[in-house]
Parts: sequence; C-alpha cells; structure tokens
Amino acid sequence: MVKIICETGYCSGVNKAINKLSKAAKESNKVFLLHPLLHNIDENDKLMKENNASYLEDSSDYEDNSSLLFSAHGYRFSDYEKYKDKLKLFYGTCPIILARYKLLEKNNNDYYYIFLGKGNHEETMCFIDNFPFLHLIDTNLDLNEQIKKLKVKNKKIFFIPQTTISNLKKEECLSILEKDNDVIKKLDICLSYYNRIKEIDTFLSKVNKVSILLIIGDKLSSNANEIFNFVKNKYPDIEVYIENSFERIKEIDIKNKDIFLTSATSTSKENVLLIKKQIENYLL
Ligand code: SF4
Repeated sequence: MVKIICETGYCSGVNKAINKLSKAAKESNKVFLLHPLLHNIDENDKLMKENNASYLEDSSDYEDNSSLLFSAHGYRFSDYEKYKDKLKLFYGTCPIILARYKLLEKNNNDYYYIFLGKGNHEETMCFIDNFPFLHLIDTNLDLNEQIKKLKVKNKKIFFIPQTTISNLKKEECLSILEKDNDVIKKLDICLSYYNRIKEIDTFLSKVNKVSILLIIGDKLSSNANEIFNFVKNKYPDIEVYIENSFERIKEIDIKNKDIFLTSATSTSKENVLLIKKQIENYLL
C-alpha cells in the first residue's frame, strides 16, 4: 500500500511567496533574491529558473526596473534600508511573520521579550537582527541552561516562538519560564504545519504493520525535521525518512512494507503525487 496520510503540498505562506515571485517576474526586467525563497532547494532552484531570478551579489548589475524579493522566512530591516531606493521591493514573506514584525514594532518596555527558535534558521536570525531587544533561547541548545544564564525572574514575559519549532520544546520552555515569571503574552507555532503533525499522529496511532513514513521534502526544511523528530520519538517502530526524489527513495528497502507519505510545507503537491506514482510503478 502507498498512501498519502495527511494534507500535503505548500502551505499558504509558501504559496504567497511563489505568487509574489511570478508577480515580480512579470513586473520587472530582473528579479533578485538574497536567500532561497523556500527551504526546498530543488523546487526553489526550479522556480528561480522559470522566473529568471538570481541571487543578489555585491557585483550584481541592477538593470532599470529590477526587483528584490524577500523570502518566505522573513527579511532584515537593514536590507530594506539598503535596497529600498535601488530596487523595486516585493515581499514573499509569510503573512504570519509580517504580522509579528508589526506587533514587535510596537514594543513596550513593560515586557521582557523572549524569542524561542533555531539559532541558525533564517526566520530566527531575521527576528533577532530586526528587534535587538529580543532575548533568544535557541532550541538547539539546553533550554534550562540558557534560561538560567538570562537570570530572568519576576518579569512580565512576551513569548514568541519560531513558527515551525516543536510544540513540545515550546511547552517545555514555557513551563520553565512560568516557574519564576508571568508569561503575559504568548504567540503560537504555525497551525499549517502543526495540524499536519496532528493528522500524522492520528493516522500512525492506528498502524500496526511494518511501515515506512516518507516525508517528501528537503532536509533543510525546519518543519520536515520536526515531523521527522516527532515520528522518530513517538513511533520508534516506524521507519521515517526525509527525501525529495524517487531516485533517493529507491535506495531504501521499501518492498513488502506499507508506505505512507506526507510532505514538508515547502514541497509541492505535484511532487508528492509524482513520487507516489513512481513508487507504485516501482512496486508493481
Ligand atoms: S509553515 Fe506557517 S509560518 Fe511557515 S511559511 Fe507556511 S504558513 Fe507561514
């Protein structure tokens, strides 16, 4: 059996970024990006090629009517200042992240702002750059140690998690902070991604045969990794892989097993359906 077990394909934020890319391509001679538009390098490169987009470098020549497109994960305000008079700007940034920028622009000295995220993720790095008053807690490091170092006590906390971190990490961090502080405001992780995990959980909880879960996506994708970690921890008997192409999947022993499919939010539904067909043909 080869079965897609939950919602797959791009989330609304990634869809918006792709629409902005084609709008920028139609309305300008040349489109530049500073970072990948989405965390799926194969799909990103294909989209850039189709839209004649390239990465902006110091040596890049701006033709008249060239544009700069900010990626789905966010942008730095310093880049806005640097390029606003030289290039036409397009915002591929997810509306959830843009809404958070707006909220933080009205920062209030009454709060102690904490951002919980992967320190090396573009979304986190942009937040920290744009809002220097944020205190970063890195999900890649020990939470207790970092909170101890911050010496945060009796504060009114405003808590912002990166949109695609683990819900468990978020809850763990909140429970440590809440011991000595009042967490007055807390934002949540992104439901587009988290609902996928919940659907996967509901489905896998009823599975009892030897099976494989294939997360179609790029290993760079934060949400693909979070789905992977969630399944690995909760369902250790299920083999789980993040792969972006049938060529790689063929190297896994998939015969005589149930194959379940999901995808990262930066992988197209077309790619998931194509890979499903390729697996079915291979297993015939
Ligand atoms: S996963 Fe959520 S936060 Fe990230 S781009 Fe998609 S909708 Fe936006």
